[in-house]
Amino acid sequence: MSISLDKETCTGCKLCLSSCPYGAIVMVEGKAEITEACTLCGACVASCPVAAIAIEVIPKEQVDTSQYRGVWVVGEVTDGHLAGVSLELLGKGRDLAEILEVPLSLVLLGEEVGRLANTAGEHGADQVYLVEHPVLHHYRTAPYTDVISGLINRYKPEIVLFGATAMGRDLASRIAARIQAGLTADCTGLEIDRKERLLLQTRPAFGGNVMATIVCRHARPQMATVRPKVMSKPEPQPGRAAEVIPVQVDLDERRALTKILEVIREEAGEHVNLAEADIIVSGGRGLGKAENFALIQELADVLGGAVGASRATVDAGWIPAYHQVGQTGKTVKPKLYIACGISGAVQHLAGMSSSDCIVAINKDPHAPIFDVAHYGIVGDLFEVVPALIRQIKQAAGQGQEQ
Ligand SMILES: Cc1cc2nc3c(=O)[nH]c(=O)nc-3n(C[C@H](O)[C@H](O)[C@H](O)COP(=O)(O)OP(=O)(O)OC[C@H]3O[C@@H](n4cnc5c(N)ncnc54)[C@H](O)[C@@H]3O)c2cc1C
Repeated sequence: MSISLDKETCTGCKLCLSSCPYGAIVMVEGKAEITEACTLCGACVASCPVAAIAIEVIPKEQVDTSQYRGVWVVGEVTDGHLAGVSLELLGKGRDLAEILEVPLSLVLLGEEVGRLANTAGEHGADQVYLVEHPVLHHYRTAPYTDVISGLINRYKPEIVLFGATAMGRDLASRIAARIQAGLTADCTGLEIDRKERLLLQTRPAFGGNVMATIVCRHARPQMATVRPKVMSKPEPQPGRAAEVIPVQVDLDERRALTKILEVIREEAGEHVNLAEADIIVSGGRGLGKAENFALIQELADVLGGAVGASRATVDAGWIPAYHQVGQTGKTVKPKLYIACGISGAVQHLAGMSSSDCIVAINKDPHAPIFDVAHYGIVGDLFEVVPALIRQIKQAAGQGQEQ
């Protein structure tokens, strides 16, 4: 795409200046002029009353897909560590790279993050593209998009994977638009079509009622986001090293468009970290009312776990949304998931069915939750849960006496 401004037609009305969200238009000798900060968003085109501004869409050239090789994972750094989802993607990326017989690379951006290349190597990366710069200290959309789009154009990977986190969702969509590649969001499965060398990207569609497999035949790279905890973390191989490829970049703070003034951490107690919990006890509409979540909290407390919830209870206002598990909530993969009074709708299962051990408590023996449960208790949760709490407390007491 390219943008043009016809100075003859421009009346100097300045409407385009106020319409531009990026401040990319200036007045020069009474006429508007588009600067390099333009992102081709098109807002000015719509605002111009005399049609002096036009965006020309140049037909996309057929991409020579054979030029693109390699699997990339875009790394996310949280609190100085590689985020769990980046490690999970390295595990999946390793499988894909081996089938395609290409290297697996981690793209690592930040400031003084080079030591994380060791972690990447131990978790399966063959290479780490390391880009360090003060402007990249915190994640910001514009510089991260610039750098990663530039790397993709230069090194031409065939697959690029992102975590479906706040950062990954923001970044992947920007990059896809910038380089005109496709993007499949929230994938739950990634496989390779060996014959055609295509990435098969599976994700829930139509409200979770069908699983759709999406291919991106003509554009490259093939890009996908995957939610945390959907893929398994690979076992680290101590001593396994990745080749580090340092990349120099010339970034200007003024082009970053945003400034991080303060990073405010969520209080651990206030926002449960469901994605990291080993034990989750979840409550559903079977609880009957908000106050009965106290029972779920008590069971979670005796087990040292976190409280989850179905969307029905969140929608009813019984519990805050950050407890919600499922397609539009969190994806979790704890060692133990106890579902109390939850029917097991597909949208709920989409967020918890890969838990290691699922225990379902439901008074309806035909509830679909029993189809995925490893242990099912058919009964009234108001009898079963207190009995469980008693038993666990008793067992813990006996353990302490010994
Ligand atoms: C686009 C879309 C996205 C969605 N995303 C999500 C999501 O992310 N997460 C999610 O959870 N849902 C989601 N839903 C909603 C989902 O379809 C279900 O409506 C919801 O999961 C039902 O919640 P529930 O199991 O608590 O309630 P219900 O389906 O009403 O089930 C209640 C269960 O409790 C049992 N029960 C009742 N009393 C007792 C008792 N005393 N003891 C034991 N058992 C009892 C009943 O037998 C029943 O099985 C989504 C829906 C759509 C359309």
